[in-house]
Amino acid sequence: PARTRFAPSPTGHLHLGSLRTALYNYLLAKSTGGQFLLRLEDTDQKRLVADAEQNIYDSLKWCGLKIDEGPNEGGPYAPYRQSERMNIYKKYVDQLVESGKAYYCNCSKERLLDLRESATKLKPPTTVTYDRKCFHDNHHSDHNAEQIVRFKSPDTYSSFTDLMHGEKNLQPQYNLQDRRYDDFVIMKSDGLPTYHFANVIDDHLMGITHVIRGEEWLSSTPKHIALYEAFGWKPPSYVHIPLLTSLEDKKLSKRQGDIGILSMKEKGILPEAVTNFCALFGWSPTRIVPGVSSSEVMTLHDLIDKFSLDTLTKGNAKVKDDKLLFFNKHHLRNRINEPDSLDELVDSYFPRFNEFTNGKYNKEYLKKLLISLSQSLSTIHDIENIHSYIFKDVEHSKIDESQIPSQAKEVLTILKDLDHSDFNSCIDEITKALPDTKKKDIFHSIRFALSGGISGVTIPLLIELIGEVEYKKRLQNALN
Ligand code: GLU
Repeated sequence: PARTRFAPSPTGHLHLGSLRTALYNYLLAKSTGGQFLLRLEDTDQKRLVADAEQNIYDSLKWCGLKIDEGPNEGGPYAPYRQSERMNIYKKYVDQLVESGKAYYCNCSKERLLDLRESATKLKPPTTVTYDRKCFHDNHHSDHNAEQIVRFKSPDTYSSFTDLMHGEKNLQPQYNLQDRRYDDFVIMKSDGLPTYHFANVIDDHLMGITHVIRGEEWLSSTPKHIALYEAFGWKPPSYVHIPLLTSLEDKKLSKRQGDIGILSMKEKGILPEAVTNFCALFGWSPTRIVPGVSSSEVMTLHDLIDKFSLDTLTKGNAKVKDDKLLFFNKHHLRNRINEPDSLDELVDSYFPRFNEFTNGKYNKEYLKKLLISLSQSLSTIHDIENIHSYIFKDVEHSKIDESQIPSQAKEVLTILKDLDHSDFNSCIDEITKALPDTKKKDIFHSIRFALSGGISGVTIPLLIELIGEVEYKKRLQNALN
C-alpha cells in the first residue's frame, strides 16, 4: 500500500494543476489500499493567503478526495501543519550541525550580494554562489539564534530514479575550483525551515512511500536525496508529472481552466466531471481489457479502480476546455438516471429554479423536466440559460417578422382546433390542408408560436412541459 501526501503551500486557491497533483496522489493511495495525507507547507510566512487553507479543504472535499490524515483530521504523525512542527525541525537541524553536515552562517547581506555578483563573472557564470566561508570559520565562533543554517552539500549529487523520467543525474552548473558550493539554506533567520528541509523531514517521518508532484520540483530532487543521505534515510519514490498547458503549449489562461476549482461549482460543473477531466491529463486507463469497450467517462470510484502508475504518460498535458463540458454532460445524465442522485440534484437545484420561475413549479415538475432534458443539458444551468423559453411568456410582438414563415397564421389556425395529444397526426392534417407549405415551415411556425425561437426540445415535449393551458394561451397569443 502506498502512503501519499498532498503538500500544498496555502498561497492561493486550488486550481486545476494542483488538484491533479492531489488527485494522482489520492488515486495511488486508494488503488493500493493505502493512505492519503494532507500536509500544509506554510513555512514561507510572507506568501500565505488568508483563506487559502479553507479553500484547499473545501475544494478537496467537494471533489470527494477524502483525507486520511491531516491538520483537521489528525493522525499518528500530527501535527500536519509545518508551522506547528518547529521543534521537530530544530532537532534535525541540530543533528546535522553536530555531525558537521550543516553549519551556521552569519555572512552579511552585503557579502552574499558580492558573492552573487562575482559568480556571474566566473567562466562559466554560475548561480551557485556561496563560498563556504562560515563552514571554515565556525570552528572558532559561537553562533546565535539569528543565524541561518546551510547544508554542506556533496561535491556531486547522487543520481536517482524517477518513476516517470527514469534515471536522472542532475548536477548544478559550477566548477569546484571556483570554490563555490551549492550549500543551500535549511533554516532561515526566523528559525523556520526552508521548503527543501521541512519537506524531506516530514516525508520521512510521516512514512511517505511515493511523492507525486509537478515537474517544476524535479531539479530540487537531488538536494532532497542528499538530505536523505545525510540522515541515512531511504528516500521515497518520486514521480514528477508534466505541466498542464494549453493546446498551444502555453501557460493556462483563465478560460482554459486556470480557475479556482470551487468557481467551477458555481458554473454548474459537477465534481465527478472535474475529477474525470483532471485525471485524464497525463494519464489514461490503457490497461483496459482489449475488446471490451472502454469509456472515458469515469466516476472517482472508476478512477480508483483503473489507476496505476505505469499508465501515467510523459509530455505536457494539454488542456482542451470543451472536454470539461463533455464530461459534465455525461455525468449529469448519469445523475439524472439514478433515482437517489436525481432526488439530491432536485433538492439542491430547486431553490435556484424556484427563483427564476417565480415559484410557479414544484419539485415534481423539476424532476420531470430534468428527465426530459437529460440528453440536452451540458450543465444544469442550461435550464435557465438555454431552455428558459419553457417557463417564460413568449413575446410574440418582438419576434422578427421576416423569420416567421409566411403561412404561419394558417398553420396555427388549423392546429388550434386539432387534438394536440397526437402531434404527428396534427402535422398530417396540416400538410393535407396546406399542400403548398413545406413541412419545415409548418414546424417553424409552431415553434415560433410556442417558444419564440427556432431551437429547443422537440415540439411534443415542449407541449408536455408547458402544459395544456399554457399551450392554448401561447397559440392564441401568436394568432392575435
Ligand atoms: N509545498 C510544495 C508545493 O506547494 C510541495 C512540493 C512537493 O510536493 O514536494 O508545491
